[in-house]
Amino acid sequence: MTTKTQLMTVITTLVLVAGITYLPSVAAHTDTGNFGFFTSGTQQLCYSTSAFNYMKYEGSTGQGTAVKTQIRYGESEVSDNTDMNLSETTSCSGYQSWVSSYYDSDADKAAKTSYLYTTLGNEYKYIEFNNNSARDWKANGNCNTATTDLSNIANHEFGHYAGSGHQSGGASHTMMGASCDSGYSSIKSADITYINGKY
Ligand SMILES: [Zn+2]
Repeated sequence: MTTKTQLMTVITTLVLVAGITYLPSVAAHTDTGNFGFFTSGTQQLCYSTSAFNYMKYEGSTGQGTAVKTQIRYGESEVSDNTDMNLSETTSCSGYQSWVSSYYDSDADKAAKTSYLYTTLGNEYKYIEFNNNSARDWKANGNCNTATTDLSNIANHEFGHYAGSGHQSGGASHTMMGASCDSGYSSIKSADITYINGKY
């Protein structure tokens, strides 16, 4: 082992130790702004029950109303705990935020939320859940493709809707981890602080 290699080994070891002892804090949130922030925290969303009917939920399709109930838990998680004021509107026409489903041949992709659009002065985003039948959404599930907890994924997607990108710090710190984990089950104080800093 050369001196340089030994030095690199020491540095690598120090980084690893630092990583293990690192305590997550609000500062772990990176203000990427990738998803865009609305001008106002008060936003209304349209929900497509007909699109939700294509999603397999508790083993069968055609469950749009039940699916919508689960997804709206995500809306409540953000709206009830932050300075955002989100609600459903049934006056759905023109350019506005839609919550819907889409087909992705990759069943491991659960959902997606678009970046902020601005058309004719109106701001909106789309939240869409994969209706690939290999993904069976559940009221009480986990992160597995065939047993996915719908409201947990909705929590995460509404975090993107609020403007939050993926965050580091782990499941106890944020519902915005890049990969599904137990942190998705509820909004965390760090998520709330981050969102309230924008609205
Ligand atoms: Zn995400």
